[in-house]
Amino acid sequence: MKIDVLTLFPAMFAGPLDESIIKRARKKGLLDLKIHDLREWAHDRHKTVDDRPFGGGPGMLMKPEPIFEAVESLRRGQTRVILLSPGGRKFSQAIAAELAGEADLLLVTGHYEGFDERVREGLADDELSIGDYVLTNGALPAMVVIDAVARLLPGVLGDDESSRDESFSHGLLEYPQYTRPAEYRGMKVPDVLVSGNHAEIEKWRREQAKKRTSESRPDLLK
Ligand code: SAM
Repeated sequence: MKIDVLTLFPAMFAGPLDESIIKRARKKGLLDLKIHDLREWAHDRHKTVDDRPFGGGPGMLMKPEPIFEAVESLRRGQTRVILLSPGGRKFSQAIAAELAGEADLLLVTGHYEGFDERVREGLADDELSIGDYVLTNGALPAMVVIDAVARLLPGVLGDDESSRDESFSHGLLEYPQYTRPAEYRGMKVPDVLVSGNHAEIEKWRREQAKKRTSESRPDLLK
């Protein structure tokens, strides 16, 4: 899969996407990730990418021209152009799975007060929010989307790290898990998990997943 990112802060992406599973996915060629500095498409020698909003109000908006020109030069035939914005549809595991089926994504990240509305109207195939809060810029949201999508690509997770039974994959949170020691500071691992009875273990896990979901996230059961 190919993912391009358009950002004012390319340096923010070094680190999170150069470690662990994502690093391995990139090395294996399963994820082709390119980070582009939007200022390369600015028109003046000061590399201006923002301007004051018509009608007044606080802050600055991202100008349309550099973004249109950047997207037009990076977009290929089947590229899905996605704006990161608090006003987008809320990102979820289901959307991550949907995006993992695409060949080519272009993530457009904002800063300041966000984008001139024509960017949304004229360029975006989709608009995603990572949650109901406002961050200073779209670099972290883009990294969240990339991480959640990349780990669903075939071959990215080893069997030990499989995404099959994880939270949200069946509309439930994951069941509680334990490792050694079997008792720690008086807290014991449930007997069923050391019983060796796989049918009982499966049953316990299903029940616990439902219990945890109804306690923490009843909205998922609706
Ligand atoms: N004025 C905008 C509003 O009220 O919706 C907020 C702009 S925010 C300070 C600047 C940029 O950060 C946005 O253009 C977007 O790219 C990114 N951003 C901030 N919060 C986000 C979120 N929850 N999800 C996705 N992107 C977000």
